[in-house]
Amino acid sequence: MFNKHIPLHWKIIFGMILGVAFGLFAIVLSWDEFTTHWIKPFGTIFINLLKLIAVPLVFASLIKGVTSLSDISRLSRIGSRTIALYLVSTILAVSTGLLIVNTLQPGTYFSEAKRIEFKEKYASKTEAKMSAAAQVNNQGPLQFLVDIVPQNIIHASTSNKNMLQVIFFALLFGVAMIILPDEKTHYVRGFFDGVNEIILQIVDLIMKLAPYGVFALLASLMVDFSDGDVHNVIELFSALGLYSTAVITGLLIMILLIYPLILKLFTKMSYLNFFRGIMPAQLLAFSTSSSAATLPVTMERCEEHLGVSKEVSSFVLPLGATINMDGTSLYQAVAAVFIAQAFGIDLDLTQQLTIVLTATLASVGAAAVPGAGLVMLVIVLGSVGIDPEGVALIFAVDRILDMLRTVVNVTGDATVATVIASTEGQLRSELEDKESSNLK
Ligand code: ASP
Repeated sequence: MFNKHIPLHWKIIFGMILGVAFGLFAIVLSWDEFTTHWIKPFGTIFINLLKLIAVPLVFASLIKGVTSLSDISRLSRIGSRTIALYLVSTILAVSTGLLIVNTLQPGTYFSEAKRIEFKEKYASKTEAKMSAAAQVNNQGPLQFLVDIVPQNIIHASTSNKNMLQVIFFALLFGVAMIILPDEKTHYVRGFFDGVNEIILQIVDLIMKLAPYGVFALLASLMVDFSDGDVHNVIELFSALGLYSTAVITGLLIMILLIYPLILKLFTKMSYLNFFRGIMPAQLLAFSTSSSAATLPVTMERCEEHLGVSKEVSSFVLPLGATINMDGTSLYQAVAAVFIAQAFGIDLDLTQQLTIVLTATLASVGAAAVPGAGLVMLVIVLGSVGIDPEGVALIFAVDRILDMLRTVVNVTGDATVATVIASTEGQLRSELEDKESSNLK
């Protein structure tokens, strides 16, 4: 067992490094079968555990959050501010992506031979993504609203994909509880308070397994990704090096520039404290490539370590995990323009603005699971008239970039939660500062 005094994020980083090292050994020593059969399952179990508590956590904590609001008008204020901030941060992300890809022009360096090779190699995988995208594309404009309202709550809670439906029902339930007099809801409140505590305790227990979980996830990912040959990895990265650099630069700008700036503008929290608090969630986002699986940890970190009140976190974070994906939208913008450049297509300003719009909407519509961004990219490409089969060009490195963009997705949600908490006077550190200055 690890020493108790080592901070959690170091334990997770240690697990990640060991996982990558093990993966490399496994590739060199041809232990791929061993890794797939004996290591990978532990990674899957870890992700399953996280997903297992997502629905009960969102449900119980939203009800607790809503019922602790003093009046319902606050709910609509928090709601509208949250959605506005989510939109602004996504548009900033897409614009950053466009700026970088137009400056670096990675697609112009992509050779015709590689284009043909990649198109053939990933043809079948591309087709699967295209048919998934076609299903989304066939829906009417208001379908997203219809999808939010479930016809059966038991059914809705059977899949983590229906998180918005669970959020909707929990909000309805909480609002009805506020409207009713206290004595009628007394026991139900007590019940959900208890459920909440129990689930947070479960998150703590699961997090004790995190170092082992990320070890297994990264070790098996290395083996899957390389197809048993280290040269494969090196070759793929050299072909798509400039494209990957463009995406990674954009993601770094979000994490190191834009979020700190947003926090500085709207809150008194230092970015270092924010970073320390949210880091374990970022590491998990990286290892699982899923903001949905990371959600329980993001919520726990925001509440216990960043001091965001439950009223705010219980609403802002589950919503963010489903609709706010800054990293995904940035990557979609870079990828779309990269593919256009590789095909020799010049995108004019209107087309680039269309990318801003569709990438924003596509990231809202993307599920918070690995690879979802790639499906929605097909739609972004379609909107500016680029052959959707172009996604074949970027398939090879998508898994790795998915890990990185998920970190940004989760950080963006946590940033907005902190800002909303601050503007609502619900950020613990600021409240403590205020109290101590009042006492002086
Ligand atoms: N994996 C991302 C997430 O869960 C979505 C994506 O970009 O594919 O946040």
